Amino acid sequence: MEVYKFGGASVKGAEAVKHVAQILAKEHGPKVLVFSAMGKTTNALETLLNAFFRQEANRAELFKALMADHIGIFQALFEPETQRYVLVQRLLKEKFEQLYQRLLEAAVLPYDQAYDSIVSYGERLSTLLIVNYLQEKGLPVEALDAADLIRTDSRYRDAGVLWEPTIRQIRASVLPLLERGTWVVTQGFIGGDGQGRTTTLGREGSDYSAAILAHSIDACQVTIWKDVPGVLNADPKYFANTCKLAHISYNDATELAYFGASVIHPKTIKPLQNKHIPLYVRSFVQPDEPGTWVGLDNVAYAAVPSYIFKPNQILLSVYPKDFSFIEEIGLAHIFELLARHGLKVNMMQNSALSFSLCLDATKGSFPDLLSALSSDFDCVYNEGVDLVTIRHYTPEVIGQVVNGRTVLLEQRTRHTVQLVVENRRISQ
Ligand code: ASP
Ligand code: MG
Repeated sequence: MEVYKFGGASVKGAEAVKHVAQILAKEHGPKVLVFSAMGKTTNALETLLNAFFRQEANRAELFKALMADHIGIFQALFEPETQRYVLVQRLLKEKFEQLYQRLLEAAVLPYDQAYDSIVSYGERLSTLLIVNYLQEKGLPVEALDAADLIRTDSRYRDAGVLWEPTIRQIRASVLPLLERGTWVVTQGFIGGDGQGRTTTLGREGSDYSAAILAHSIDACQVTIWKDVPGVLNADPKYFANTCKLAHISYNDATELAYFGASVIHPKTIKPLQNKHIPLYVRSFVQPDEPGTWVGLDNVAYAAVPSYIFKPNQILLSVYPKDFSFIEEIGLAHIFELLARHGLKVNMMQNSALSFSLCLDATKGSFPDLLSALSSDFDCVYNEGVDLVTIRHYTPEVIGQVVNGRTVLLEQRTRHTVQLVVENRRISQ
């Protein structure tokens, strides 16, 4: 039993869906297929929800645009006036009517609950179109709703999985289908709180869904199909001379995801590692090319240096005004202010009299944080700095990354170094 996960880019339009069907037509053996929303649908749904929430004038137009996108894909996938065409047309119409109704109701719900009820339509729409297309192409697939499979708490937008009922439910619904040769199609990203409310697992959470399903059915492997050849040692947007990693350990994959490499959702690895299920990241653009194996047994992992680059950071140092030690003031107070103003810490370091933090300038309100800190602390900061994390560093690669720039803060563990450096493009 295997689990395949196809992300938004792999199903971004009719041609992409046809390509996925071609890939699947060559496959054998029982499978669970997890799909994300098509292309940028999740972003579009976020915008749509906000427009309804704030009663913006363009809300009807946004709704029509989303519907037109999906109708366009529908028309390109199905032969007009066939039985299937009529069926999918009706189902699609019903889904959009339901979505519209939910949008009208959303404004009276708490925002996060409304968010999950609306944004989950991306995956519901994609699986509706895809399962019907795959059936039409003769593939033995059946859809199950992920809200019935993955049981979560009610922490909307970042729901926690309730493992025991989830495993029970998945095994009871999925295994009988797989045993009689039916492949299961379900949505990534979505869960249910057991009281009829949809939850979501956090943006880009479909990888995690695939891992939950694999863990629950004791799958032999999970494959994530991507628009890149596998896990690269750096983001080609920022680094020249990237290379694909053939094998990486669960530890490396988790650390890379944690430090911000966007290739795998950070929560994905644990459910797989706990059951020794390997993960294969491969390209749907070049399906014949080898990808990256994560957590495969009996391989020697090469310690290839990997880089994660975060531009647009702020390096903030705070000093207690009355010369207290940082411990006396309490880091908890500083963290409470960070949480209150929505700032995310990417790196931190303290000395007796100072505490330094590297923060994402794009999140939260830094000016509000500064004014909240100013009663107890003197604050010094540099804006527009870069944070570079290097896994499996060597002195040479640090030299290349720093490239003559000033290092403002540095932290090393055995395998990882993090450097806050003055901004200037990195050329290797
Ligand atoms: N569609 C969701 C998102 O874009 C989940 C996912 O793609 O993994 O965040
Ligand atoms: Mg997505």
